[in-house]
Amino acid sequence: MAEEKVCLDCGAPIRGRSDKRFCDDACRNSYNNRINSTSSIFIRKVNSTLRKNRRILEELLGTEKTIKVSREHLLRKGLNFDYFTNQIVNVKGQVYYFVYEYGYLDLEENTFLIVRHKGN
Ligand SMILES: [Zn+2]
Repeated sequence: MAEEKVCLDCGAPIRGRSDKRFCDDACRNSYNNRINSTSSIFIRKVNSTLRKNRRILEELLGTEKTIKVSREHLLRKGLNFDYFTNQIVNVKGQVYYFVYEYGYLDLEENTFLIVRHKGN
């Protein structure tokens, strides 16, 4: 038996042509409006900035445990300091900004420490 296809919008089973993705035009329009809505565009923009920040930190760190990098170098790579996923404060009260599993700590004098979360 063929796998049952469901409408991408409402989830109802679809009969007929195997390339059909929606029940009808109403479902197609409703789906397209949803994925192009302002909020989902905003979310995609934030997610893409976070992914870019993560990739920059990942590439800089490579296989090292920690490295020191200048603020200028991070900015040149395109790191956006306004976007991070969480903060971790260590026992010394220093605030690490994490982008997923990669984090950075402002060491002052324009130098940052890049780290990877120990859970990984
Ligand atoms: Zn539908």
